[in-house]
Amino acid sequence: MEHQFRVVIIGAGIAGLSCAKYLIENGIDDFVILEAHDQIGGRCQTMQLLDHQLELGAESLHGEISNNPLYRLAEEHHLIDIDDRGSDRDDCYHDEEAESIDEDVIDEVRKVYDEILEKKVAAYPYENYPDISLGEFVSAEIEQYINIKKVILDKDELDEQQKVIDWLSKQHPYLNTIGCNKLTDVSVQGWNSLERLPSNNQYNDEAVYMYGGFSNFLQTVFADQLNENQIELNTIVKRVSIREEEQYVDIEIIKNNQELITTYQAKHVVCTQSVGCLKQSMHQMFIPPLPHAKRMCIQKLAFGTVNKIYLGYSQPFWDVDFQTFNFLWDTNDNDTELQLECFAKTSFTSDWCKSITGFHVHPRLPNVLVTRISGEAAKYIETIPDDLLAMAFQELLYHFYPDNQTPKPEQLIRSRWFNEPFIRGSHTFIKIGSSMHDIKQLAVPWPNKPAKPLILFAGEGTHERFYGTVHGAYMTGIREAKRIIELY
Ligand SMILES: Cc1cc2nc3c(=O)[nH]c(=O)nc-3n(C[C@H](O)[C@H](O)[C@H](O)COP(=O)(O)OP(=O)(O)OC[C@H]3O[C@@H](n4cnc5c(N)ncnc54)[C@H](O)[C@@H]3O)c2cc1C
Repeated sequence: MEHQFRVVIIGAGIAGLSCAKYLIENGIDDFVILEAHDQIGGRCQTMQLLDHQLELGAESLHGEISNNPLYRLAEEHHLIDIDDRGSDRDDCYHDEEAESIDEDVIDEVRKVYDEILEKKVAAYPYENYPDISLGEFVSAEIEQYINIKKVILDKDELDEQQKVIDWLSKQHPYLNTIGCNKLTDVSVQGWNSLERLPSNNQYNDEAVYMYGGFSNFLQTVFADQLNENQIELNTIVKRVSIREEEQYVDIEIIKNNQELITTYQAKHVVCTQSVGCLKQSMHQMFIPPLPHAKRMCIQKLAFGTVNKIYLGYSQPFWDVDFQTFNFLWDTNDNDTELQLECFAKTSFTSDWCKSITGFHVHPRLPNVLVTRISGEAAKYIETIPDDLLAMAFQELLYHFYPDNQTPKPEQLIRSRWFNEPFIRGSHTFIKIGSSMHDIKQLAVPWPNKPAKPLILFAGEGTHERFYGTVHGAYMTGIREAKRIIELY
């Protein structure tokens, strides 16, 4: 047969690429990476705007050199890019009446909120108690705080506190870094199991980016080490079938959107598709069907959506010292939604607006504003055309900041992770009803025989401590490469 390989890797995201690199370094070069898109990177995608890079997916490295192996790789290639300009610029907090909210109130509530998340949630003994949602846990703690405040604050002051609490719960890093809809979707066990890497080195407290963006990092460190036969782009894997009493695997592919199906053969297949993709395709893709336990864990794990939106203007309409425009939505009248005028003659609704917590000025592009949106709202706005969405953001900015003559943005650049057919969202997370066990189960090879793993699973959603991250995905690629190398 023409297309026979020792290893076929599905996907040229960081997990697939790290698997390939490790195989080469350990003497196995009889493999091919099959990638559905016309470019490498998966959820690491950099776009160029003028001389700068905009990241549609992964943006910065977590942790530091001692705990995140990607630092060493980036340093070896001189790709570490540190944002050390500090942030002594102005943050502005407005409510729907365009009234400014006192920063002392923000700081006070933020301190309480951080304490709950960092200390109290972390101490919840979930091993001995039923799992609860992060949202329930935080609400119960916040209620105690508000009860104390009720004695000393008047109604307006309490309303203000409530707006800040609501704002914090929406722009909480967990919403923004995993893409869940509400904190009530997330399990406390899940929150506690996700390890956040501390950073105490020379890059302390500064955001660490990649020169040329993540796409350049993946190209330089990984893809440039492959020969041209070791990676096939525009190649969709349709079916993976175990053959001949588990001796080898057939992989049916479609190249360049043609109808023709070609079959490759491999001794091992490493699947790095996202959990979102597996949810969608697992029933048609695998023959025989994946074992029940594997199907259940894919079903149970959550796959969120976070989208980034960049608004480009010919020149800033804000002060040069400006850093953020924050939107603190009213919490009393949840039933009266803001009705955007630009949607008046369309079938689009404005419900998603309340998920927007504000914009910040891009640290490197002074005439670009950036926001992130998570969960159902993020999925919904993927359906709104760019031009209409640009008008919606103009109205929103004007609603909270009417003193600025907000123009319509000239450019709107955004991700659409949910509708990317071979991604289907942004991050794996543990929701109520799933657990760490599901992540471990997803990582188990099939058949589960150490001497003959035919189909192996890597990718962000298979790392039990660092799921949802680039370094987690990287480590899983190496883990599965090692499993193969140990056989030979
Ligand atoms: C908005 C956003 C911001 C993020 N920010 C950060 C951050 O700052 N720091 C951080 O550490 N992490 C961040 N992440 C997470 C990080 O990007 C991901 O965890 C990581 O890139 C996942 O890599 P992967 O290789 O597991 O999967 P993917 O990147 O999804 O790669 C899988 C590949 O498989 C391909 N594929 C799927 N199905 C098929 C098929 N049938 N045939 C062929 N190919 C197929 C896909 O096209 C894709 O290229 C962010 C993610 C998003 C979306």
